[in-house]
Amino acid sequence: MRKLGNGHWDRKLIERMLEISISPDIDEALKEWKATGECWWPSLGNTNPPEWVRESRTGVGYCLCGHAIYYHFAIENTENGTKECVGSDHINAYMIARAIADELGVAPETISDDKIADWIKVRVKNMKADAWWEENGDWWNEMIDGLRPVDQWLNWKKTGELEYDSVYRWNIEKKIPRKRAEGKFGERNYQMASVFWRWDNPENSRNQMASRGYPNDALIADVTFLSFKKPAYLEHEKSQNKRRLNRLEQIRLDEAARLERQKRMAEERKERERLRQIQLKKHEENRALALDEFQQSMTFRKMCKFYGSPTIISAYAYDSASLMRLRNFADTLAKGEQLEDYALTQLASIMSNKRRVTEKQVKFIKDLGGEIRGPITRKEASAYIETLLAERDGRDAEAEPTNQPYSLSERPQNRSD
Ligand SMILES: [Zn+2]
Repeated sequence: MRKLGNGHWDRKLIERMLEISISPDIDEALKEWKATGECWWPSLGNTNPPEWVRESRTGVGYCLCGHAIYYHFAIENTENGTKECVGSDHINAYMIARAIADELGVAPETISDDKIADWIKVRVKNMKADAWWEENGDWWNEMIDGLRPVDQWLNWKKTGELEYDSVYRWNIEKKIPRKRAEGKFGERNYQMASVFWRWDNPENSRNQMASRGYPNDALIADVTFLSFKKPAYLEHEKSQNKRRLNRLEQIRLDEAARLERQKRMAEERKERERLRQIQLKKHEENRALALDEFQQSMTFRKMCKFYGSPTIISAYAYDSASLMRLRNFADTLAKGEQLEDYALTQLASIMSNKRRVTEKQVKFIKDLGGEIRGPITRKEASAYIETLLAERDGRDAEAEPTNQPYSLSERPQNRSD
């Protein structure tokens, strides 16, 4: 901050300051004053100056020294309460130091020159920005409205890196803002840098909105130029949307076809399984029939007896595996051959299994005129007996409704022997 010298305006200022200060010594007089922080400038929406400007000795548009000014700063004499108005050239360093010191609660002597310079700079910058916004804000906002996608379309560059989009199921090339222009504005090969990178991108520490508060001329020119590309962008976007819609439709169709294929395969699997079960049943039936044939064989019956077993029939099998085993053992026995130890163990285990039907059940079923063929479980045999009894009772009821030859207590029980 320069000291007041012998120049015309400096001398004028000293003269007037002494008139309205208490001390007759200029160095002391200057210390009576402090900047209030108020600023004013004549702008479009702000043509009515505040009282401290209107009531100043030199009036609107002039520094206390008489020099014409645009930015008005308020100063106040803290000894006699006089308020005045000076330009940025004549707002004294000590006045500003006092203003900052008051704010921070320290002595004015501790405030550095840099801080004082910043104080002025920030206020002037804000005033300039405010003035610009007042004059151009609406126009600018309208200009950049809807311009971001246009900027991304034309002023962002592809990085070569691919990104998978799971909605559209395709790769898209990643784009980043172009940070430096190529060529010169107005020339054919001109490629501007991203206007929003320069304007307000938070990743750009020097973006103009934060650093200066309003766009510079180059940015205004580029934004104006870019706004002419809006219609072309809308056309482009329309065709892109169409492409995206087609893609979604294709994905939908593919998905439907895939589900249809899955459904068909599941049905085919089910059908194969059904046929396999039929085949299995058939094998089982043949096996059971073959096993029951052996009852005719004297040798077979003798061999069963030899092992202390009732004559083996298919009904003693309670599942597929036990049926297969019984069928194998029967083969051996029918030939009059002895069973291996392991086979004997298995036979004993089958015959003592709790799921096996009892000889009593077999006899009862036959007595009731039923047919029994394995594999069948003890439980199933009981249910079968119930059915046979119900049938017989039904028949008897028609013919002779009185006596029942079997009472419930006489029926075979599912005892495990
Ligand atoms: Zn002045």
